[in-house]
Amino acid sequence: MRAIPLWQDQAPMEEQLGMDPLPQTTDVAIVGGGYTGLQSARNLRDAGLDCAVLEENEIGFGASSRNGGKALVGLKHDASTVARQFGNEIAEGLWRSSLEGINRIEEISLEEGIDCEYSRTGSVYLACRKKHFESMQKESEWLDQHYNYKRVDVPKDELHSEIGTSVYHGGTVDPLSAGIHPAKWVRGLAKTAKQRSATLCSNTRVIQIIRLKDGFQVKTNRGNFISREVLVATNGYTEGLNKSISRRVVPVGSYIIATEPADPSLVKQLSPKARMFYDSNWFLKYFRFTTDGRMLFGGRTTISTSQDLKKSAALLQKDMCEMFPQLASLAVTHSWNGQLGVTFDALPHIGKVDGIHYALGYGGHGVALSIVLADHVSELIAGKRQHSLFSEISHPTYWFYRNKPWFRPFLGLGLRILDKIG
Ligand SMILES: Cc1cc2nc3c(=O)[nH]c(=O)nc-3n(C[C@H](O)[C@H](O)[C@H](O)COP(=O)(O)OP(=O)(O)OC[C@H]3O[C@@H](n4cnc5c(N)ncnc54)[C@H](O)[C@@H]3O)c2cc1C
Repeated sequence: MRAIPLWQDQAPMEEQLGMDPLPQTTDVAIVGGGYTGLQSARNLRDAGLDCAVLEENEIGFGASSRNGGKALVGLKHDASTVARQFGNEIAEGLWRSSLEGINRIEEISLEEGIDCEYSRTGSVYLACRKKHFESMQKESEWLDQHYNYKRVDVPKDELHSEIGTSVYHGGTVDPLSAGIHPAKWVRGLAKTAKQRSATLCSNTRVIQIIRLKDGFQVKTNRGNFISREVLVATNGYTEGLNKSISRRVVPVGSYIIATEPADPSLVKQLSPKARMFYDSNWFLKYFRFTTDGRMLFGGRTTISTSQDLKKSAALLQKDMCEMFPQLASLAVTHSWNGQLGVTFDALPHIGKVDGIHYALGYGGHGVALSIVLADHVSELIAGKRQHSLFSEISHPTYWFYRNKPWFRPFLGLGLRILDKIG
């Protein structure tokens, strides 16, 4: 078993994408070389601005090459819940951004010739309890009534048409969700940022951002330079660089295994429509078959970011085999983890503190939404846009979150209890 993401193994980042020297000055310094940072760099270059992407590890190292590859319609909370908080108009705008994000992946990958295995195969949100299915049905009605948007609710006794297990109590199919190969997508964004002459610096940790009268001094482990603007795009890897930003996003661990390829007839039996699956627990499970027939099975075995990868693999394999006993004979070939950026309102945000821009907080919905937030924040920086819903909604934090997310174990415990009582 290899302790690296299957995706990185299959599509390693090209070394020359990240070999640029640090600039002496630039228009925009971008901290973080994932989807948000790279898509922002592409846009800023198109707007005629110089920019440098500064990535502590190799470009694409973070969640952008570690995720489940599910480009999902919707936000973490139901649209009706968000509408109660922010009103219908804002909620609809936020929700529609997820559709826009999926469309953007399709559009960009076609335009740029990025083969990221994009495929609009749809997703199934699976109900862990009967009452979860009932609230899914209510939400589908709400979406139809308010947004004229159609999902397909599948009761338990018909769910075998979607998935080869009987552990769930029904599910709702979202036909517009899509699947991608995360590492091929992030590599494509990096290549096309480079083609636009964005500066890409790997192994470059930003240590400090000092505000000057006119711009910023950006201090890194490789040296310092001056930038007119700074964009922090570090999502679940946001730690300590700027306290006001760190306090608004909590890094949360998520763990995945991949098996060796299964027989194609078994793949068809367990996932007849090649959907992306995720379930309704807080400690959710998410899974899919890859295009080469491997079961990719993920979940929050813990929300800590440092669980041993052998331990997480054993826990996930047990869950996988309970759900799909037919996979028990397959070897687990890869085990890895990554960090999600979770906000207190479970929404992504764009903001500006101490003059520094940021775009982050996608939770488990960043594949689609990161592209939209990157579009918005880069257009705001380039002066091509005056407003974004993601910067207009307030971005909450709490007094008890100052330096470290010390409360994460308690949060984990609370979520486990919620799952137990349903
Ligand atoms: C295991 C897992 C599964 C997921 N599954 C899904 C899914 O199926 N669907 C979905 O929609 N979303 C999913 N997500 C979420 C999604 O992957 C992320 O929201 C998205 O990739 C965020 O992209 P990003 O560019 O904002 O951040 P990242 O790709 O995480 O990039 C942030 C980068 O910042 C760098 N960095 C941090 N600090 C510094 C510093 N001081 N200096 C320089 N660099 C720094 C880090 O090294 C990192 O590479 C998943 C996430 C994980 C971890």
